Amino acid sequence: MPKVLLRINGRGNAWPVPLGQEHPFYSPNLWEDYANASFSIISVEGSSIARKTIKWEVLIDAGHGVVPFLLKHNNRIPEAIVLTHPHFDHILGIDWIVQSYYRFNHKKAYPVYATKPCWNAVLRTLPHLERLVDFIELRQGVETKIEGIAGLKIISYPVYHGEHAPGASILCFRVTTSSGKTGKAVFSGDLLLPLLRNKDYACLTNADYLIADANNRFPYPRTNHWSITDSPKITTETDFFNTWKAGLSPVNLITPHIHMDERIENGTYFSDFLEEQEKEFNLPSNVFELVKHIKPQNTLLVHYNGWEDKKYYNQKILNEIQLEKWITEEAVKKNIPTRFIVPKVGETFLFT
Ligand SMILES: [Zn+2]
Ligand SMILES: [Zn+2]
Repeated sequence: MPKVLLRINGRGNAWPVPLGQEHPFYSPNLWEDYANASFSIISVEGSSIARKTIKWEVLIDAGHGVVPFLLKHNNRIPEAIVLTHPHFDHILGIDWIVQSYYRFNHKKAYPVYATKPCWNAVLRTLPHLERLVDFIELRQGVETKIEGIAGLKIISYPVYHGEHAPGASILCFRVTTSSGKTGKAVFSGDLLLPLLRNKDYACLTNADYLIADANNRFPYPRTNHWSITDSPKITTETDFFNTWKAGLSPVNLITPHIHMDERIENGTYFSDFLEEQEKEFNLPSNVFELVKHIKPQNTLLVHYNGWEDKKYYNQKILNEIQLEKWITEEAVKKNIPTRFIVPKVGETFLFT
């Protein structure tokens, strides 16, 4: 049986090193590290990952830095792309991949899986993709198979990642491993809050890998990203998250999922969500809180930025060793049940 692996193709945010600045996490000598947060689930026949041994590859998010990474790593076109949300650092590589497939290989449309509001937003940015892409809709909370790939299924769940991220989602992948077991990987995408119904936590529970947005260590909602943990000290100056949350209603949070589509396309997902949240507005608002709920075996941190930690909390921007050490120590103090890893770009993780 072939092995199934998760590979980190890039772990950066939109501008990992802003021009004119330095960033301790991202090395100027390792250009691959400028690829934006992107992952592959790969089936491999044999002992190493090579163009000939890859049976299939599904790419999750494709920002501007991802194609140079793929050129260097096996130089082949993935079988399909799945998107978490329509921001540039997650989509700009699609054109390069789709054109490579259409013009030089198959003369047919390339499969891209996303929610409808997400795909509509991609088309507003890259309208020519409409005729080059075979769009397959992900419906929130509904399992979707990847065509032509046995043993790989996706369920998306909505998240709030700001007004300008329509259809943004958490993605949960189930894979059949070489030993015939079911492996699970959960990709948080970029988010400020996951919009989960109570029953959805069970579907996300006990993943082999949670890949989590770790944009900042401490909360600053105006980034539209959540944080790893809560504020180091809660004062009126630093309690940015709770001040923001106090002015919200659950209806605000679902707006980016429905306003582009006139009607709610996802059955009762959002009405069930609103009914629950109107009784008790309670959503995990940082990495630690979600991990406590869903208990993944490993949590991989990506999309690290840290500029807001420095600006609003006077906390250092960390390098990768410091970040892993810090989160591991915090997790022990708070009794958080997972192994935290800051993965290297290109690193692979096996589904056993
Ligand atoms: Zn991003
Ligand atoms: Zn984003």
